[in-house]
Amino acid sequence: MLNIVIFGAPGAGKGTQSELIEKRYGLVHLSTGDILRAEIKNGSALGKQVEAVIADGHLVSDELIIALLEQEIARHKDAKGVIFDGFPRTQVQAEALDTMLAKHNEKVNIMLALSVEHNELVKRLLNRGAQSGRADDNIDTIRKRIDIYNEQTAPVMEYYKTKGIFAAISNDTTVDECFQRVCNAIDKVNK
Ligand code: ADP
Repeated sequence: MLNIVIFGAPGAGKGTQSELIEKRYGLVHLSTGDILRAEIKNGSALGKQVEAVIADGHLVSDELIIALLEQEIARHKDAKGVIFDGFPRTQVQAEALDTMLAKHNEKVNIMLALSVEHNELVKRLLNRGAQSGRADDNIDTIRKRIDIYNEQTAPVMEYYKTKGIFAAISNDTTVDECFQRVCNAIDKVNK
């Protein structure tokens, strides 16, 4: 399998690039944000549990999100590979992902870390909020999410750097140019 972690601050372009990767390489795209928003929309018990936390810009608990991922990984064990979008967001989640994949004799092949300059991130998220009406894409929550990303999530990059499977990709550019950079990085590990 080809297992990719796509990483970056809110608004860095993880979802957009994941959809392009999904099509080109025939992988399954697992977006924890999309899964959680679908649960909220369905009004499920899980959705009710996380709705306020997400609207407020905080992370949901490691325990909850790891259990969710465990199910999803088992469900897609016959896929050509998986793009993990929005997971891991903490060190605990990164370690749990390795453990879960190891149960299926799998591992993460590469982490693609997208970066976008701070003011541009805020601009892109405000635009997205205006179009999608996402409850967490308003200025106060955006600032909080970026702070939480810098404090709790960005350190996860070190975990993958140490393993030697880290690729930094600047996304201060067009979608197509970024995708070209993404493909170059993937093709190096997908021979
Ligand atoms: P973005 O990358 O724009 O912040 P996502 O759609 O990936 O948006 O996630 C939306 C929200 O869902 C997050 O702010 C958080 O509350 C919750 N969430 C998603 N993935 C995780 C995770 N791995 N751990 C904890 N919370 C998560």
